[in-house]
Amino acid sequence: MIFKKIRKGHINWQDFLCSIPARDYVFQKDAYEDQIDRTAEYIRNADCVIIGVGAGASTAAGIQYGGKRFTDNFAEFIKKYGEHYMTDMYAAGFYPYPSEEAKWGYWSKHALMNRFDPPALPLYTELYDIVKNKEYFVLTTNVDHQFYKAGFDGKRIFATQGDYGKIQCQKACHPKTYDAEELFHKMDEARKDCLIPSELVPKCPVCGGNMAMNLRCDNYFVEDEAWHEAADRYADFLEQNKDKKVVLLELGVGFNTPIIIRFPFEKMVRENSSYSLIRLNMDEAVVPESFGKRAIGIGSDMAKAITDIRGLVL
Ligand SMILES: [Zn+2]
Repeated sequence: MIFKKIRKGHINWQDFLCSIPARDYVFQKDAYEDQIDRTAEYIRNADCVIIGVGAGASTAAGIQYGGKRFTDNFAEFIKKYGEHYMTDMYAAGFYPYPSEEAKWGYWSKHALMNRFDPPALPLYTELYDIVKNKEYFVLTTNVDHQFYKAGFDGKRIFATQGDYGKIQCQKACHPKTYDAEELFHKMDEARKDCLIPSELVPKCPVCGGNMAMNLRCDNYFVEDEAWHEAADRYADFLEQNKDKKVVLLELGVGFNTPIIIRFPFEKMVRENSSYSLIRLNMDEAVVPESFGKRAIGIGSDMAKAITDIRGLVL
């Protein structure tokens, strides 16, 4: 219902954002083994599992945006644009590239490294094992396609923030996205001194203007037909399961965009006594104390935790 409400503008934001007082958050002191045992039990007994996943999960899975993975692969970009700005792939994505040739020179490499080249990573395939025999739905702010690669049903995934594999009109003049895999490979082969040749710069087929990555980073993000269908399927899934025993399994969702997964998940637990929340988060595994046993906050190595949960659920 949440996304339908957002689309129709009916949401009461004050209510939505303020439903959990900050003072209610606690780091649980339970032993790790107990938390994993209880998590597995909740999942085994659940009618359905809703998986909510943010950037922290892909970092834990191995797609690190900084460190050696960045400095090794983007050395010429760091040299050209300066290490003060080029600190990691997140910062590099926001660099004000001086031309379309420079912009696509960077983004084609970023997309190949984070979306097209990596295989399905173990954290995601193990996560799939955990839910594959259950009713499930995935809500994610990640744009790296890992859920699709790991075998999750595409009809049960709602990736709200876009896809590194797609491009759109920069001014969103029409609500369509375009598959860019082939184009990015061509750019990658032709790139020289961090720039792609002008003839490979994509132009909007409708207005003739510049194109952009299909990522929610400004008000011009295109929510295409597939996006709306996924939003509706998610809303329907929530509606169909609203009175059932539901486990909300949240991985690596921080406070960058908490209104998409983190806060709505907490709101659902607050409003439904048959819901429980499993929160895996390296630094921010705080959970509302008032949820009591219905919340489990696991702050240790996420990849290990998923392996351990899988071992008990299967
Ligand atoms: Zn256009």
